Amino acid sequence: MKNGRSRELFATALGLIPGGVNSPVRAFRAVGGEPFFAVRAKGAKIWDADGNEYIDYVGTWGPAIHGHAPPQIVEAIREAAEQGTSFGIPNPLEVEMAQWIVNAVPSIEKVRLCNSGTEAVMSAIRLARGFTKRDKIIKFDGCYHGHVDSLLVKAGSGALTFGHPDSAGVPAAFVEHTVVVPFNDEEAVRRTLDANRGQVAGIILEPVPGNAGLYPPRPGFLEFLRRITTEQDVLLIFDEVMTGFRLARGGAQELYGIKPDLSCFGKVIGGGLPVGAFGGRREIMDHLAPLGPVYQAGTLSGNPLAMAAGLASLRLLSTETYQRLDESGAQLEKGMREIAARANVPVAFNRVGSMFCGYFTEGPVWNLEDALRSDRARFAKFFHGLLHEGVYLAPSQFEAGFISTAHGSEEIDQTLRAVEKVMATL
Ligand SMILES: *Cc1c(COP(=O)(O)O)cnc(C)c1O
Repeated sequence: MKNGRSRELFATALGLIPGGVNSPVRAFRAVGGEPFFAVRAKGAKIWDADGNEYIDYVGTWGPAIHGHAPPQIVEAIREAAEQGTSFGIPNPLEVEMAQWIVNAVPSIEKVRLCNSGTEAVMSAIRLARGFTKRDKIIKFDGCYHGHVDSLLVKAGSGALTFGHPDSAGVPAAFVEHTVVVPFNDEEAVRRTLDANRGQVAGIILEPVPGNAGLYPPRPGFLEFLRRITTEQDVLLIFDEVMTGFRLARGGAQELYGIKPDLSCFGKVIGGGLPVGAFGGRREIMDHLAPLGPVYQAGTLSGNPLAMAAGLASLRLLSTETYQRLDESGAQLEKGMREIAARANVPVAFNRVGSMFCGYFTEGPVWNLEDALRSDRARFAKFFHGLLHEGVYLAPSQFEAGFISTAHGSEEIDQTLRAVEKVMATL
């Protein structure tokens, strides 16, 4: 495998960009070695600067649900660009996007568009606090909500991988209103709410946490959260930046039949361009400026290129899309389980639809503590082995994998052959 050009680029990047990357997990620190530099991606494949080809299970960390660069999205961006790249004044595509989200997600009556998942969550938290006039937020360990100051506590992959879950530069006062509890632990939630009665603005979670690998909610856990937050007038905030439009058109909330008060989106709704969104009940959303006292703004929010790409991506989603993704996921899961069993390697394989994670541990994995039992050195070996065989997984044990509609039965078979080969060397 040639890597001269990537090595050269990385050496240059290291002198110019901290760590050589613009987002830490990309640096391969969790698995060792150096990242490759991507120059092209199409369908299920990605190509690096040295001409190597990989089957890609990162999918630009979630957005590429239709595979890379589907012609409909590329064409939509081209058409939009010809009309102007940014207006800074309302444009019709924003209305269309808002309509799409409101139609697809029953808990959402109004939505505000922004530029990233981080921005969506940051704004949703501010809104929850402004609406309830309370300060405290409950979050779960292992859930990542973007690099929002007050939520950078026990925040999943990036933080885990680098061993300082609380980032430097976040004043203690900024997280003093954040309470962290274990995921899937009803008793801990109940105790925390009791101890902070009348002070909690909201409970925020990834309904299917996908930033510490992937673990699903235990049966009844989301229902419990809905019930107890309603009883105590606490807002339930679903961070669906990863799961929104991926697990179902209406996100995890459709899949599990729960209506949160506020929801955050990003990734898929941008079709590969930078987008975020947050929305919910009308009475809450109307607390946002210019109607209400909670300030939130953005120079490029509702950008026409991003809206056009996102809308093209959303238009391609059908019931069949989700069936197909689930079938491909099932094929991968079955193969992985069989291979791991044959090789006598303990793997706890979690999957929800097109999101998956194989933890190198006996399992089961229901929360961060379980996830941390996995053998990271073994994962690193597995990762590099697969990369050598032309299969690209996220460079950390604590990331979810993503399947797209471009991952057909053939790509998955090819992946499984690589897995079989590498698993035998672990
Ligand atoms: C990716 C992600 C974010 C942050 O989104 P960015 O666009 O990277 O800022 C927030 N929450 C969840 C659940 C995510 O997966």
